[in-house]
Amino acid sequence: MQSGELFNSETIFTDVLLPVPIPQAFTYRAPRHLSEQVQVGSRVIVPFGKNRVLTGIISKIHGTPPEKYKAKYIAELMDDEPVVTPEQLWLFQWVADYYMCHPGEVMNMALPSGMKVNSESRIQLNPDFESEELLEDFEKEILKVVEEKESLSYADLSKYLEESSVNKVIKKLIDKGAILVYEEVKERYSPKKVKKLRLAAKYANQSAALALIDELEGKTKQQEVILKFIGLLPPDKIREKNLHGLDKAFFKELSASSLKTLIKNEVLEEFEITVSRFEKYDADEMATITLTEPQQNASDQIMEAFAEQQVVLFHGITGSGKTEIYIDLIDKVLSSGSQVLLMLPEIALTTQIVSRLQKVFGDKMGVYHSKFSDNERVEVYMGVLKGNYQFVVGVRSSILLPFTNLGLVIADEEHETSYKQFDPAPRYHARDVAIMLAHRQHAKVLLGSATPSFESYWQAKNGKYGLVELHQRFGKATLPAFEVIDMKEERKAERVNKGFSQSFLEALEANIKRKEQTIIFQNRRGYAPYMNCEECNWIGQCHQCAVSLTHHMYENTLVCHYCGYKETAPKVCPVCESTKLKSVGVGTEKIEEDLQELFPEARILRMDLDTTRSKNAYQNIISEFAEGDVDILVGTQMISKGLDFDNVSLVAVFNADKMIYFPDFRAAERAFQMITQVSGRAGRKEKPGTVFIQTGGPDHSVLKYVLENDFIGFYDKEIHEREGFNYPPFSRVISITTKHIMRNVSHQAAGKLAAVLKKYLGPQRVLGPEKALVERVRNQYLFEVWVKLEKDKLNMKAVKAYIAEQITEINTEKEFKSVRFVVNVDVV
Ligand code: ADP
Ligand code: ZN
Ligand code: ZN
Repeated sequence: MQSGELFNSETIFTDVLLPVPIPQAFTYRAPRHLSEQVQVGSRVIVPFGKNRVLTGIISKIHGTPPEKYKAKYIAELMDDEPVVTPEQLWLFQWVADYYMCHPGEVMNMALPSGMKVNSESRIQLNPDFESEELLEDFEKEILKVVEEKESLSYADLSKYLEESSVNKVIKKLIDKGAILVYEEVKERYSPKKVKKLRLAAKYANQSAALALIDELEGKTKQQEVILKFIGLLPPDKIREKNLHGLDKAFFKELSASSLKTLIKNEVLEEFEITVSRFEKYDADEMATITLTEPQQNASDQIMEAFAEQQVVLFHGITGSGKTEIYIDLIDKVLSSGSQVLLMLPEIALTTQIVSRLQKVFGDKMGVYHSKFSDNERVEVYMGVLKGNYQFVVGVRSSILLPFTNLGLVIADEEHETSYKQFDPAPRYHARDVAIMLAHRQHAKVLLGSATPSFESYWQAKNGKYGLVELHQRFGKATLPAFEVIDMKEERKAERVNKGFSQSFLEALEANIKRKEQTIIFQNRRGYAPYMNCEECNWIGQCHQCAVSLTHHMYENTLVCHYCGYKETAPKVCPVCESTKLKSVGVGTEKIEEDLQELFPEARILRMDLDTTRSKNAYQNIISEFAEGDVDILVGTQMISKGLDFDNVSLVAVFNADKMIYFPDFRAAERAFQMITQVSGRAGRKEKPGTVFIQTGGPDHSVLKYVLENDFIGFYDKEIHEREGFNYPPFSRVISITTKHIMRNVSHQAAGKLAAVLKKYLGPQRVLGPEKALVERVRNQYLFEVWVKLEKDKLNMKAVKAYIAEQITEINTEKEFKSVRFVVNVDVV
């Protein structure tokens, strides 16, 4: 019991999950006026540290005061109803245990930032706010300040009000719709309400409408409004269509005061609707699909397999129509009343698939990804919680949404590494979390891919997952033909122009002439990977990271792809002042430029991180390309998967070698996946496709298997090597990276950890310490220790606990106090 304070049995304590890397929930005391209202799963604002406030989630309510500290009071309860379900709380704990992080970190990932406020949160005016009369005088004053400053942080406001707790004031203003809270300036506001107008019911038929127009004779401007209004309604459906109203925006260019008068005189009614991000579809525009026979077979087999297995791997080649089969299955599960989640590895993919799914599921479907604004994400989160969305399409983090009744989770392109979060914690794998969650909710999981991950295929081969295969493209489409170009030979024969082989250029030219489209894959953005002085051999390096700076021609900058550091590209060598600076290597930007020079008439688009930063950029590039006016699309891995264009008959892969020879035990698997997936963009409809692969090592076995479209042969060969070295899927790998600004401190800390782990687990299970592939990032030196743990042989929980303990132990030593340990379970 805490000293000096007495608790009676009615004192209520709450454990609160906070978005900070601390192991346990913190205990706060509920003030008397809230003691009846606090609920597990509700958000609270609590003081944390000296001057901070944080939003947390109540994870437990009890009567026991904390032993080691004096419980502070909850500052504010944000919800009348919980926003986090018991299911989620369970999941947060599971993810935290498995991936060796803290449940608060998982909670933080699960809640869209629009649902959290903290001392860095900022407020701005709600541009849609009009009901000034709702406000108290002092609130009006606050709004004036916010307006003047454009935006204010919580801290600013508390300074202004000379009051430490401003949450209440802010909450009132939010409730009244006067202000918006946002976390950072990603995108401040995106409207989700639309203002609508409709005729008062008594005018909503043809004769009454005509009479109204007569009545307004002489009031030309008002008449104009009504004429336009009626003109927009189909004469035979005035009543029905009027009921849904017309967007107020249609009448923008007409007189605003006449509109006001008409509303005041109750001729027109103004109302507001909340629109989901997606347009509603008329039932008659909805598409229905008919599966082909092989597709129907596959779908039936999947259903059969689900009778026996919780997880089914669906290995269907590119263009076989996996999406159509998903639709068939989703439809079945939705009509049984359960929830469905379709996960996609990347936003680049969602554009096309989402619009296909919309045609089937309309506004039953919620879409969840990071290119959406906070507001939109909150809308989907709350929609799932309240049961408005039975079906969600989303990226990685959508698995953390408040599902309670999942029937089916589909992980499309299940092999994709972007399902694994790299930074920050939780470093979770959404596919694997999905399997765990589905297990708990008695749901099925479908893993779909043309190039399954070895992990999943191995499980299927061992009877742990069901396996369904579809080896046929939809309709008349066939897999593309391959041309492997030996660049060494080509160079010898002088058949290379600007890095392109002559035969590829000929094929490209013919393709442009035929008005067919080409996709070029180069897994490196920017213009050139480095800038080099020909006199003194200077190379532009990042001063914070051990990597060269990439030359970006468009902005004329040198950029670090690890830390984002940027400088203007020098005109003369900074060391010897020579002007003989040259850009070495090839990035997407250079390919675009070179091709434009070779084919001045061709229309070229580029899709990589640099061209897709803004919200709708993906969509714009994809639809522009799909509309067909574009000849060539150059891009990084973003273009490698999922995209579906009818008119692409030529694909080129440029730096296959870089992928194949990458120093990682998964390099061959990745290269196989990548090349197969990119190639899969060609010849998806009637037009046959060709794929050019330019390489320095045409005989590499990975290429042989790609060319023969022999996934199984490739798997059989590779899996033996994996087994020999005891790599996944035969083991689990946990990597621990040390970070410190002193190289030797980082090295020694990693060495110390490796030593104790070797003692505990045996030397063959522990690798390292070894310097990371990029040894220094943001001035921190990185060393890695890898732990390989055979499946089913070891008690994983105990091993993880031991690792965590040892890290804490090393961190208590004086010299290693400031070393950061980053643990990545199931590193990919
Ligand atoms: P995958 O995801 O397996 O690569 P998709 O699902 O993208 O393949 O299908 C490839 C193309 O074939 C798409 O344009 C799709 O609309 C079309 N398609 C597939 N199956 C059907 C079907 N049963 N009816 C009509 N079009 C189909
Ligand atoms: Zn120089
Ligand atoms: Zn850097």
